[in-house]
Amino acid sequence: DAVFVSYLRDISDRYAVEEELRRARDNALAGERAKAALLTVMSHEMRTPLTGILGAVDVLEDTPLTDGQKRYIDAMRVSGELLLHHVNDILELSRLEAGASVESVSAFDMEGLVTALVGSQQASAQRAGLDLSVHCYLGETSHVLGQSRALQQILLNLVGNAIKFTEEGAVMVDVCRIDDTDQVEIQVADTGKGIPADHLEQIFDDFVRVDASYGRVSEGTGLGLAITKRLVQGMGGRVSCESELGEGSTFIVSVNLPPAEATKETNARSAA
Ligand code: ADP
Repeated sequence: DAVFVSYLRDISDRYAVEEELRRARDNALAGERAKAALLTVMSHEMRTPLTGILGAVDVLEDTPLTDGQKRYIDAMRVSGELLLHHVNDILELSRLEAGASVESVSAFDMEGLVTALVGSQQASAQRAGLDLSVHCYLGETSHVLGQSRALQQILLNLVGNAIKFTEEGAVMVDVCRIDDTDQVEIQVADTGKGIPADHLEQIFDDFVRVDASYGRVSEGTGLGLAITKRLVQGMGGRVSCESELGEGSTFIVSVNLPPAEATKETNARSAA
């Protein structure tokens, strides 16, 4: 009997532990969801007054100002834009987390997209004294089928980081099609600070920054690469990083971008 009683006690103890664990897991999950919802609502609510402030700054910039006033207005614009950038990052991440409507695939000119995006970053590369170059080797055609908005965002994040974390030298963007496949590889390489080997895995996680004092612009959310990774995975692709401390980093994105013409032909053939 004693054995049986102790057996029953064991079972009920185990059940209590499991029940406790389940409750803790549910609470943690609910907590995570509440936190994510709060972040989304807060970011959303912050965006409207922020754009109001930036709009007012725009108007003030067009009025006659003393040099001192101009400097203050400039500082307001730079900080306001940075804050807006962070708020947009948080919103984008929660949008992706929630599995918000995935961008549809369309035909676009990949070389045109990459060149335009790199062009938009030339001014900030120049300000930092960096040489920013781009090379595309897309073979027969640079017209591809894919998610152009996501690709723009990915490139913007990687090129922006490369500029931010490079003291001197160059940032190089290379786009090439892997021979006779639908696979396109995008490489963003810099001659910057590099990333310690034991951080290479974590930099793609939410809110991870190697060292806040370490980039030229020390402000950052640590969300850019988390967003990049989700966008790449959303396209069924892969992103990785190779880096040598003090030498530089190379981010490699590998995605499926079938040539637009070829796919049209294929569709026509399979429809026939
Ligand atoms: P953020 O740039 O806002 O800090 P990211 O998610 O884009 O956030 O990057 C995470 C961290 O990875 C950065 O804080 C930085 O430590 C490191 N990192 C990213 N890109 C580079 C790069 N090109 N060179 C060196 N470090 C980098």
